[in-house]
Amino acid sequence: MDYKTVTLAGNKKIALVAHDNKKKDLVAWCSKHRDTLKTHTLYATGTTGTVIEKATELPIHKLISGPLGGDQQVGALITEGKVDFLIFFWDPFEPLPHDPDVKALLRIAAVWNIPVACNQISADFMVASPLFNNEVDRSIPDYEAYMAMRS
Ligand code: PGA
Repeated sequence: MDYKTVTLAGNKKIALVAHDNKKKDLVAWCSKHRDTLKTHTLYATGTTGTVIEKATELPIHKLISGPLGGDQQVGALITEGKVDFLIFFWDPFEPLPHDPDVKALLRIAAVWNIPVACNQISADFMVASPLFNNEVDRSIPDYEAYMAMRS
């Protein structure tokens, strides 16, 4: 795979997703970092977005609820370069009906070299990084080179 570099702006496009048993943790994390998060563009799956918005009054672009396809929507936005950061508190204890979608989202985040935080401490480390609020270079698959190779 060939890669190319894109520069992410200081304002990140962050997707927030939490499974039901983890929503309390993500709401607490968003409340703690509210001042930082309000300078970024936030997306969330339906229920996650609704509970965060209610608790923090942060503006959130709400997608479809996860079990109805929201995780896949986040994945699609990543491939389109419209989401460049994923905070995904997935539940390590409960099997979920949309488990294939969860796996697919984590895979696509790895393909597109997206920073992913799966718990509060990882998200704390990321938000404390100077890269969080500043421009940063990210390498992504070179789609044109990939297509040229395949055709
Ligand atoms: P939800 O979806 O925010 O609508 O609960 C999250 C998920 O279960 O993936």
